Amino acid sequence: MNVEQARAWITAIATTVEAEAETLTRLDSAIGDGDHGANLKRGFAAVRAALEGFEAHTVGDVLTKTGATLISKVGGASGPLYGSAFRAMGKALASPDVTTEQLGDALDAGLAAIRKLGGAQPGDKTMVDAWLPAVAAYRKKGPRAAAAAAEEGAKATTELRARKGRASYLGERSIGHQDPGATSTALIFRALA
Ligand code: ADP
Ligand code: MG
Repeated sequence: MNVEQARAWITAIATTVEAEAETLTRLDSAIGDGDHGANLKRGFAAVRAALEGFEAHTVGDVLTKTGATLISKVGGASGPLYGSAFRAMGKALASPDVTTEQLGDALDAGLAAIRKLGGAQPGDKTMVDAWLPAVAAYRKKGPRAAAAAAEEGAKATTELRARKGRASYLGERSIGHQDPGATSTALIFRALA
């Protein structure tokens, strides 16, 4: 991935998040407070604006700027979580051109940042349940497999009981609904593919 491709990834995320904002909001209305689509739409619109005219010399510059903007513009749990993930990925990719393997390491660092900040374990019905299988699949088979694994992981959250975030307040009643954050993580990996 080079700097232009990093920009293209972020732009693709902004586009898909905008297209899917209503779906994300509907999912968050069922087990949260209904703002996930709006949060990400506003956040990635701000990222798109921040990257325009921003001079990036490395892939990391693009991703760090993305993370910092998400942290400052998105209220709600997902802003700091995704923001930290992109900042961690940015830190790991301080060159103009990165290999598939380096990107795999960076995605892993992104996952570690989400887990450190949010404290969620696999199976807690959060974005971790899509991000974790996606990183594993990326390492073994590349970006397309990662996108498929993220989507599968997101779907599999339906049967889980939430143990982190707002949805955990619902206890048993969170079962039967797909997690909004895991769903948006699938969009991020689809955009990467
Ligand atoms: P909020 O819950 O503050 O309204 P959002 O609606 O934007 O924030 O994001 C909700 C999503 O954030 C959830 O669907 C879940 O995937 C994710 N999430 C919430 N808390 C955590 C956590 N502690 N660790 C990982 N992900 C979390
Ligand atoms: Mg919400």
